[in-house]
Amino acid sequence: MSNMINSQQLFRRSRLRLACWYTIAMAGVLSLFGLGMYRALVQSKWIALEREIESLAGTLHDSLEPMLPASGDPTLVLRQIFPDLCLVGYPCNSSPTLIQRHTTGISDRHTYYIRLFDRDGNLLAFSPNQPLAPETTLNPATWQTFQASDGTRYHQFITILHGTNAEQGIGSSHNYTSWGYIQIGRTLAAFDAETRRIQWILAIGFPVALALVAAAGWWLSGLAMQPIYQSYQQQQQFTANVAHELRSPLASLLATVEAILRLPPNLHQNIPPMLQTVERQGRRLSSLITDLLLLTSLEQESSTKTLQPCCLNDLVSDLTEEFLELAIASGIDLTNQVPGFEVYVFGNESQLYRLVSNLLANAIQYTGAGGSVEVSLKCHDRMAILRVKDNGIGIAPVEQKRIFERFYRVHSDRSRKTGGTGLGLAIAQAITRRHRGHITVKSKVGQGSLFLIHLPCIQPHPLRMTHSVNTQTR
Ligand code: ADP
Repeated sequence: MSNMINSQQLFRRSRLRLACWYTIAMAGVLSLFGLGMYRALVQSKWIALEREIESLAGTLHDSLEPMLPASGDPTLVLRQIFPDLCLVGYPCNSSPTLIQRHTTGISDRHTYYIRLFDRDGNLLAFSPNQPLAPETTLNPATWQTFQASDGTRYHQFITILHGTNAEQGIGSSHNYTSWGYIQIGRTLAAFDAETRRIQWILAIGFPVALALVAAAGWWLSGLAMQPIYQSYQQQQQFTANVAHELRSPLASLLATVEAILRLPPNLHQNIPPMLQTVERQGRRLSSLITDLLLLTSLEQESSTKTLQPCCLNDLVSDLTEEFLELAIASGIDLTNQVPGFEVYVFGNESQLYRLVSNLLANAIQYTGAGGSVEVSLKCHDRMAILRVKDNGIGIAPVEQKRIFERFYRVHSDRSRKTGGTGLGLAIAQAITRRHRGHITVKSKVGQGSLFLIHLPCIQPHPLRMTHSVNTQTR
């Protein structure tokens, strides 16, 4: 019982561990994926934002350039060109029509601000909506991001403003020199809000997705553990059955040996029959262990190296002959039917003999005197079909599902007396499976049973016998 609990705990722990690993692995994948998506999204928005600033700067630059004064104090000219900009040292008129003109179509007109510097980097003019506490001297970096005192972030771009210098334009109609700098900036409030929104979605979505993954992991690991658990339980059951099966013959063997040892000298003539019992029990134990070893090896063996072509016609004839004596002794009519051509299958000959002999032994054992048993062989659709049919006691439908289980006996007392271990059909099934075939049973209580074996066969060989053979054994 404690073993059961331990194994259950073990399986539960393994399931939990599997689910945890699955969740950790998925968390890694999800976070990588999420981070990648986040970065790509933010990056593309950032690039779009910079492009917008650049194009606005370009447009402004192109429209301002021809109007700029060649030399002298630009204040007056600037006031004419930019009536909407505030000039340094003068009271500010806050109607940003210039920005409005150039940002038509951009939803928030207060998003952008503009500043003009002279070529020495001194601030000349600025739009009234520029960020609080801006620098008054030029920072020459093309792109800058900074945070204003109110916490809002800004991103700005600087480009050189060229002026038309007619005085230097000897020989050429236009000669451009640097007049100053124009700085276009914008608030990052919308961008930051969007980024925060994505961060929130990820921050909430990630744990939710992880919880779902953990639940799915728990469920999936349960599914994965199920066959292992079942096979483990079968193995446990098998071990218990083996111990049980070995215990009774061993106990009776020991009891007999003890009885022999305690036998007074005047009864020593009884020893030989008692030794015969010991021998019988020993043989039974030995055959049980051989059967168990065969079953184990059948289940472990997976290579097809030992397989060779085996003639099933020979197998059927040989076994009929072998069981003839037993059949006659039991008063049973044993017949066989094989086709006129040879049917070959790829297999292990001794295992195939064991397969059919198990079925034949059962058929004879579970058929009363006066009954009949028939073994027949056919080849149909690249399948060899072996039939072992009797008109014996039959098997009830509920039992039919279980008779192929190891150690399962329908009438356990009766079949134990007759030497059955309950492994015969389990071995037959294991051999059939190993030969890539299948075994089925059809039976009616009181009317008899039919065991059908289908095995993939090699192309039928040329005729050896020209007619169907019917061997009458009685
Ligand atoms: P056993 O060693 O007891 O014969 P098997 O695995 O060969 O074990 O068979 C399992 C059970 O199936 C048997 O106990 C028997 O009751 C039933 N059985 C097998 N073959 C036949 C048959 N031909 N007719 C009726 N019952 C059968």
